[in-house]
Amino acid sequence: MIFGRRKSADKTGPTSDDAAEASDDAAHARRATGDEAEDDTAAAPPIPADRAVDFIAEMLRTLGENAFDVGAMRAAEVGELFEGWARHLLVGTPAPGHARAQGEPARRSESAGARRDLPGLRRTFRDHRIAESHYVTTALGEFREATWAFISGLRRSLSVEQTADRRINHRMRRLEGAVRSGDPVKIKSEAQDMVTLLTEFLAERGARHQEQIAAMAVRLESLRGELDDVRAQASIDALTKLYNRASFDEQIEREVDLATLFGKRACLVMLDIDDFKWVNDTHGHPCGDQVLRETAETLTRCFKRKDDFIARYGGEEFAIVLRDLDIPTARTVAERGMGAIRILEIHREGLPEPLRITVSMGIARLRPGETAASWIERADRALYQAKNGGRDRIEIDPIDLEER
Ligand code: GH3
Ligand code: MG
Ligand code: MG
Repeated sequence: MIFGRRKSADKTGPTSDDAAEASDDAAHARRATGDEAEDDTAAAPPIPADRAVDFIAEMLRTLGENAFDVGAMRAAEVGELFEGWARHLLVGTPAPGHARAQGEPARRSESAGARRDLPGLRRTFRDHRIAESHYVTTALGEFREATWAFISGLRRSLSVEQTADRRINHRMRRLEGAVRSGDPVKIKSEAQDMVTLLTEFLAERGARHQEQIAAMAVRLESLRGELDDVRAQASIDALTKLYNRASFDEQIEREVDLATLFGKRACLVMLDIDDFKWVNDTHGHPCGDQVLRETAETLTRCFKRKDDFIARYGGEEFAIVLRDLDIPTARTVAERGMGAIRILEIHREGLPEPLRITVSMGIARLRPGETAASWIERADRALYQAKNGGRDRIEIDPIDLEER
């Protein structure tokens, strides 16, 4: 047999059927690669059959030595299979899978050629190649699926925490690119880099969180003390017995801290007596003072939750902090207060009938990250809208209305 020559066969070669099948296969292989017309091996020097067999056996051994697990078939079994075929070709031991007839000795050397099961080798090789291809494709597919799941899970968790930094996004894009390319070497390398980066990132974040928690604990401790202090020592307004402006200024900063730390809601109501100057001008200053006192009492009655904080902000203006309330509830509570003031009858000696007053209110809800100054300013602006709108009414800061 001359290796690579279609029409040649030597006397020690395979059976005529085998030879025909082998040469058909060679022709088929050439057609498949599109080089049937260029049979350049015609000009190449012939390779002696024994050397060709040596080459094939060596190739089989190389394949066997470098085999890997293919599904249920272990690498060692694949190695044994190819080694078996190599020995079959070289020394005529029975082909793997073909038990030698009982008592039949192994044929060797020249006689081995006549018994070489080349079609069997071809079938084994083809089946194994198909199994390998199937295994690699499936395994890679599963690997890609797992990587995608990992990527999307990570993205979700990072976007929730809003801590993804540029490095991670960059790495993530590279890993995605690698997965898209389907190149296992690239995927492996990018996945390793990603894991390294994430490990560093999580360790960093863990340390950062520890620090934040420790700082928060210290801050909370002092906050609790400060809150107790402010309740105990807060300056009280002499006329109305409500907290005075200085207390309000301290308290509002703490409300902002608490709301920020615990993500709590809080609404601020700014309230101003309508046409109060008229009361003073018409009935005298002492009457005005009485109106202020009775207004304060009414507010204390209406906003009576222990978490409500009511202060006299200035002249005839009051500020109320409503904790843990959203805008609709704060509006309802405020309306109730407004209604109570509307029906309040201020009796005064010398007046033929009780005095009645109305108030205007502006409400704003603390926004995340907002300062106390901005919160107060928005509530104040809403109050002045209520005044401009005709008084005796409540206005909500437009930003809070939009949010709803
Ligand atoms: P508006 O409806 O726009 O609020 O008009 P208003 O008259 O209520 O407001 P304005 O700011 O013109 O008048 C507030 C008055 O309140 C002026 C001030 O003399 C008076 N005032 C401030 N503090 C006191 C106080 O402690 N006692 C008394 N009786 N009057 C006060
Ligand atoms: Mg007023
Ligand atoms: Mg005023």
